[in-house]
Amino acid sequence: MSPDRKQIVILGGGFAGVYTARYLEKLLRPDEANITLVNRENYWVYQPMLSEVISGSIGLANVVSPIRRLCRRTNLVTREIEEIDLANKVITVSPGFRPRQLKLHYDYLVIALGNVTNFYGMPGMLENAIPFKTLADAMVLRNHVIRTLEEADVEEDSELRRKLLTFVVGGGGFSGVEVIAELNDFVRAVKGNYIRLRNEPHRCVLIHSRNRILQEMAEPLALFAQKTLRKRGVELILEDRLLAATSEKAILKSGVEIPCKTIVCTVPSTLPPVIQKLNCAKEKGKLLTNTCLELKDYEGQVWALGDCTAVKTVSGKEAPPTAQHAIREATTAATNIAATIRGGQRAQFAFEGLGTLGSLGHGAAVAQILGVKLSGLVAWILWRCIYLMKMPGLNRKVRIASDWALHLLFAPDLAQPKLQPESGIQNPLFAAGDVVFQQGDLGDSVYGIEDGECDVLQEESDGSQKLLATLTPGDYFGEMAVLSDKSRNATIQARTAANVLIIPKGDFDKLRHSVPAFGEIFRALAKKRVESTAEPVVNRSDSAET
Ligand SMILES: Cc1cc2nc3c(=O)[nH]c(=O)nc-3n(C[C@H](O)[C@H](O)[C@H](O)COP(=O)(O)OP(=O)(O)OC[C@H]3O[C@@H](n4cnc5c(N)ncnc54)[C@H](O)[C@@H]3O)c2cc1C
Repeated sequence: MSPDRKQIVILGGGFAGVYTARYLEKLLRPDEANITLVNRENYWVYQPMLSEVISGSIGLANVVSPIRRLCRRTNLVTREIEEIDLANKVITVSPGFRPRQLKLHYDYLVIALGNVTNFYGMPGMLENAIPFKTLADAMVLRNHVIRTLEEADVEEDSELRRKLLTFVVGGGGFSGVEVIAELNDFVRAVKGNYIRLRNEPHRCVLIHSRNRILQEMAEPLALFAQKTLRKRGVELILEDRLLAATSEKAILKSGVEIPCKTIVCTVPSTLPPVIQKLNCAKEKGKLLTNTCLELKDYEGQVWALGDCTAVKTVSGKEAPPTAQHAIREATTAATNIAATIRGGQRAQFAFEGLGTLGSLGHGAAVAQILGVKLSGLVAWILWRCIYLMKMPGLNRKVRIASDWALHLLFAPDLAQPKLQPESGIQNPLFAAGDVVFQQGDLGDSVYGIEDGECDVLQEESDGSQKLLATLTPGDYFGEMAVLSDKSRNATIQARTAANVLIIPKGDFDKLRHSVPAFGEIFRALAKKRVESTAEPVVNRSDSAET
């Protein structure tokens, strides 16, 4: 091995990272540099087609590609990046099977970690909304939508059925538009399989902060997109934004509340936490680079590109966060790393974009390419052809094309694969007035109040509600019905906005059985409460300690 062999570390396996590795493999000989790429998944996600996973028009595994096959000479480290030490040129990645961190030393670093959906300042969104960026997000959303349909089909309560059949998406950019269009197409296509839903209306709502969606496109195309979506039954709420969410509704800035059980949020974005911690120059919340894509103050050592950066072209225009720009930025960065190693002319980023394309669901799209504007079926065929061509590898191209062909012939798949056993502690936010559970409901979870207050109400024989107690943070309730397999003997309603910890029965039982002392406390409590008639479902944190 050459003693001069340089260590190049690329952080991120998205468009920017993977394409940098591919170009570097072409530009540098193996004895010139060792290339390492770190990504939390061992696959690259083709985000422009991600929304098609919702309807199943592209199979889950076909919208991704294994990084090892895309970059055959690059060492892949499938781990979480925990720390970037620019001063000492060291990257720390998370432990794997062995509980030991891994340190990677570099001569040249490429930061291409993309961005994450930012729920900061939007109460309840983290707990109740689904972001849409990764393959996992797409799988979660598809499974969730199928679950809401399954539930709506058996639900007697018409109000809850309406909530289950309402789907809200925040953000009228390309990803938001594509998600609502696919969601709407999917629900329309499969509703016929649910005997009780066939004639039941569903609601798909897109919320956007500006006066028209798809701001990146010329106005006539955006207006065409709006008309098409409306014609297909999508409701558009413009000049408003998602402000907060509870497990029962989406709350908009204007005060409008939309009762629903599905909220998808595609905006706004922020830097991944590991870059937020970096002490380096940033602009508009993104890493600041020069036109050679070198990180300010780390020229010749660190390059930053893709969605995590504020990149300007030579003409001074800001490069938008798109895949086509990330790919061109990767060429520039790879050329400049090779030039730094070998000496030679460095390249400046000058790509101004070829155009924009957006799908509006089956058979319709909008396209603006090299000044030509197209809409409808022609744009949709073009959209599919271009994105299929851009998918690297013949293998994936063939798989996607056959998925599309099969989707034209057969109805969408409706199977809801269970990814893990039904379990998981949650802490949803309930707004004042929301019901946590109703008197008569089955005891399927134990609850604890993290913050806020909840009333315990019991229905009297004349139909009125009697206030039994008001619960405050630290109080817990609901274990009586879980332990006795009986139904709830009171209703719990949020008095103020409240974050409530919910431990499903399965998890509660696992804890009871594997930690006998925990089970003992609850058995003793249940006995005490059976003997007492004062507070039927409530448990005070102070009394719990005694
Ligand atoms: C739904 C959707 C549709 C889109 N449609 C289009 C389109 O039609 N046309 C278009 O041009 N653009 C589109 N885009 C935008 C485009 O996909 C992005 O601009 C592009 O993916 C940016 O590439 P990137 O490499 O900067 O980031 P990403 O592709 O997001 O890659 C970042 C990578 O870093 C990894 N990572 C982050 N933090 C860590 C960590 N701490 N440890 C380990 N790994 C980490 C992530 O897992 C990810 O693999 C779309 C985006 C979305 C979400």
